[in-house]
Amino acid sequence: MKPKKILVWFRNDLRLHDNEMLVEAIAKSDQILPVFIFDPRNFEITPHLSYRCGAIRAQFLLESVAALRQSFQRLGGDLLVLKGLPEVLLPELVEAYDIAEVYHHREVAAEETQVSADVEDSLWKLRINLRHFIGHTLYNKEDLPFPIKDIPDTFAQFKKKTERDAIVKACFLAPEVISFAPVENAGEIPALEEIVMPEAMGSSIQQELTGGEAKGLQHLTTLLEEGSPIYKKAIKSGAGKLGFSSMLSPWLSLGCLSPRMVYWLVKDAEDKYGTNPNFNQILLGLMWRDYFRFMLKKHGPHFFNDFALKPEHLVPEEHENLLFEQWKTGTTGNEYVDQHMKLLNTTGFLPHAARLLLSTYLIYILKIDWVKGAAYFEEKAIDHAPANNWCNWALVAGGGKKTGTDKSAVDIDKQFKLLNVTLPNSVA
Ligand SMILES: Cc1cc2nc3c(=O)[nH]c(=O)nc-3n(C[C@H](O)[C@H](O)[C@H](O)COP(=O)(O)OP(=O)(O)OC[C@H]3O[C@@H](n4cnc5c(N)ncnc54)[C@H](O)[C@@H]3O)c2cc1C
Repeated sequence: MKPKKILVWFRNDLRLHDNEMLVEAIAKSDQILPVFIFDPRNFEITPHLSYRCGAIRAQFLLESVAALRQSFQRLGGDLLVLKGLPEVLLPELVEAYDIAEVYHHREVAAEETQVSADVEDSLWKLRINLRHFIGHTLYNKEDLPFPIKDIPDTFAQFKKKTERDAIVKACFLAPEVISFAPVENAGEIPALEEIVMPEAMGSSIQQELTGGEAKGLQHLTTLLEEGSPIYKKAIKSGAGKLGFSSMLSPWLSLGCLSPRMVYWLVKDAEDKYGTNPNFNQILLGLMWRDYFRFMLKKHGPHFFNDFALKPEHLVPEEHENLLFEQWKTGTTGNEYVDQHMKLLNTTGFLPHAARLLLSTYLIYILKIDWVKGAAYFEEKAIDHAPANNWCNWALVAGGGKKTGTDKSAVDIDKQFKLLNVTLPNSVA
């Protein structure tokens, strides 16, 4: 009898630990075929003339894919790496390898969801099922105390009810034995220059963080050891007054770390050392992450309808280009903005408070459409995640309104004080 093969399509879930999709594929098949596809659309220029992925995040992605490949190689298999359109390549693989089913993780942002829908359609023509898994959130949607359509729109309500009535599940263990479908040529991982547009390569890059599951787990465990150098550095990061930053987001965004793994390791650390504000901040951040993903699940792109800026709140077009250029290059003349913009351009990372400052300045001082700022962050941030980036930008543009009572989350007045600029009438 021929072996039943399941193709496991990896995207933003580059890990073996806490990966239900992988565990299920191993359980339901005789052999698995793990695949990662570099989709050129993810590196294209956007309508806002920025790029969907710059060199810093692309480098982190390449490292993460290489690490996943090594993990499979250690277990006697490989990761098949291809470049092209998933909706074209996956049906070809299904036929070439005689695949019975394709597994992948469901996403919430419009473009990723569209790619899944196109893959589903193309596989359906071969009568092959694309099975969707949920693996990006702390809480699974079926564990929430409300159906998606009734999820509270205010963060404070979402957090209160979810923490009270839902549980965080235990992590799935990383598989130790896997039976792989034999592959003759697993493909080369492309070089950085092969995926990133030349104009998006940037200069004077100082990337400090390395991608991959093992590096992410190492960063997390070191961070949670009391008195560890990373922990002290994290406390100091964010230019002193901007507060603690765990710097976990790049690994969380690519799924090298699962949010549940972060949650349970923080809980272990709390048992050992007691609670502290930094541990609380990490757990709060995980709730924000879930909230935005569930908001997009509930409202889809309509989530952003409330946040479109009126033309009278925008700078005249003839001034916009120069002001936007000054913001992007860190030459606005505002000390905080310029310092942090240069940090974003060279390292790809900023703590939350700095992102709030930069977005507030663009929207309320320069009066430039927030969508352009979000598109620029998408190119530059090492941790870009569509729900986190676009929803946070929208909330700043809306003065933090949608999140309701939790003022500290997006307190625009506070940003103005930190920026040391006068409050414009429209916000006062
Ligand atoms: C304009 C703007 C754009 C942003 N773009 C992104 C983005 O592209 N990718 C991204 O991961 N985060 C984004 N954020 C949210 C937040 O700033 C970063 O997650 C955080 O700074 C990452 O640093 P950390 O890992 O040290 O966070 P910590 O404070 O240590 O929090 C732990 C984790 O919780 C999550 N988290 C924390 N705060 C938030 C938040 N407000 N919204 C969503 N998740 C959160 C992150 O995964 C983070 O790694 C953005 C915020 C703003 C204001």
